[in-house]
Amino acid sequence: MFVISIYYIIVQIIKQAYNILPTDDVVIIGAGAAGIGAAKAAQRIGLKFVMLEASHRIGGRAYTESPAPDVYFDLGCHWLHAASRNPFTQLLRPYGMQVGPWAWHTHFYQEGSWMDSHGDFLTFEANVYQAMQELARQGRDVSVAEVYDREHKWAPYYDYVVSLLFSVDPDQVSVRDFTDFEYTGEGEDWPVREGYGTMIDRYGSDLPVNLNTPVTEIDATGKGVLVKTQRGEISASKVIVTASTGVLNANDIRFKPRLPAWKRDAMHSLQLGNHNRICLIYDRNVFADHPGQTATCLDGDEIPMYFEIRPFGQNYAVGSTGGRFADWLERAGQEASIDYAREKLVRMFGSDAGKNVVKSVVTAWRGDPWVRGAYSATAPGRHGARKDLSRPVDDRIFFAGEATSLNFMATAHGAFISGVRAALEVAASVGVSLEEDLSAEQLSWQLVKQKGIGSAGNNEQTSHLKS
Ligand SMILES: Cc1cc2nc3c(=O)[nH]c(=O)nc-3n(C[C@H](O)[C@H](O)[C@H](O)COP(=O)(O)OP(=O)(O)OC[C@H]3O[C@@H](n4cnc5c(N)ncnc54)[C@H](O)[C@@H]3O)c2cc1C
Repeated sequence: MFVISIYYIIVQIIKQAYNILPTDDVVIIGAGAAGIGAAKAAQRIGLKFVMLEASHRIGGRAYTESPAPDVYFDLGCHWLHAASRNPFTQLLRPYGMQVGPWAWHTHFYQEGSWMDSHGDFLTFEANVYQAMQELARQGRDVSVAEVYDREHKWAPYYDYVVSLLFSVDPDQVSVRDFTDFEYTGEGEDWPVREGYGTMIDRYGSDLPVNLNTPVTEIDATGKGVLVKTQRGEISASKVIVTASTGVLNANDIRFKPRLPAWKRDAMHSLQLGNHNRICLIYDRNVFADHPGQTATCLDGDEIPMYFEIRPFGQNYAVGSTGGRFADWLERAGQEASIDYAREKLVRMFGSDAGKNVVKSVVTAWRGDPWVRGAYSATAPGRHGARKDLSRPVDDRIFFAGEATSLNFMATAHGAFISGVRAALEVAASVGVSLEEDLSAEQLSWQLVKQKGIGSAGNNEQTSHLKS
């Protein structure tokens, strides 16, 4: 018995010693679009990796619920943007998913009547964009709010549009960040009928992920990295951090030693704003013969509110809030948010839109502990922060996520490509390379094309963690 015990203790000591040596090439923190991109690329390159995800599910800000039969509500990303440059486009056919025809053209409701003056707004918007491009060319990184006349009749609606594009208000976003986004043109933003979140979840479903495993510390004081979690710790040569800048700025993950000043500056310059979606489901069509896919309430001094009306012919509407107002309404609570949206719908469509609501879903992204906001915006005067955020520290700590994308920031495909980019950087750093020289965007296309038919896995992985 004594001999067996001694033997057991020796085995444990050896196992522990083994466990504190690097066991994997890379630990990937987060299983949102960026983490999924990093993991798929790591698989392709042949890197050994472990994925750690704080939440009970993968997808992060890509998440779909089905609150009623045939209704798919995206709590986060909904439009597959830049379709011709978006690798996820290739999943539509194999997954049997549909996208809608979509036009941003909206009908405005103002002081008791409908106006179809979207064309007038588009002229204003085009002029503002041109002015921003000119400022960007001159290297003047002022705020978007400084570009247009605050008294212009379209200023309140444009302010609102910016708050949805960047999840912050126009005084909080740099014109150069705005113009860096590679807009691929009209008709390239596709709402996904079964949910963009559903698509990303399915694509990532065959990955081995340690769910419910929040990372608390990355210790790079020794050799490689030691990643500490609430369920134990793991060592590796490198780590890819994909957590949002909301999480990073809240210091939810401690870095030992402290990250250098240029990295902390980048994180602070890329705050997350807020954007919430309020979904009201009806038992009948209360929108009569409304001619468009959207309706915008634009009354008086109130913050405008844009609604998708009967998406894919189903009896529901989705209203959106952005920026500081989204924070204010989120704090007011779910009931207040529902009442707010319902009151606007009643104003536009009559009392039936106040009754007949059978279910409602309200997002609260600021309150989500694993995100802490919606998506990133570069603060005025801080152009270059995304580049700095994407740079590795000490060739050991690599960064991905939507905030690190230089051309498709604040999007799901931008996050995915950034994850692939980080995996390529890790590969280069450990001296492994692909047989062909591919950019991150090219490899992203190839990965999604090859792995189009995802298996219905459950993402559970036997943990490599040491308690
Ligand atoms: C309301 C809303 C609407 C949007 N609409 C669109 C749209 O229409 N089209 C579009 O393309 N994009 C849209 N986006 C943006 C898009 O959803 C995001 O850019 C993208 O999903 C971000 O992916 P990510 O991997 O960078 O980050 P995340 O999705 O946040 O993934 C990071 C992961 O890290 C995990 N994590 C956090 N902390 C820890 C920790 N300590 N330890 C371990 N894991 C941790 C999180 O749980 C999360 O799963 C929208 C976002 C929101 C919120």
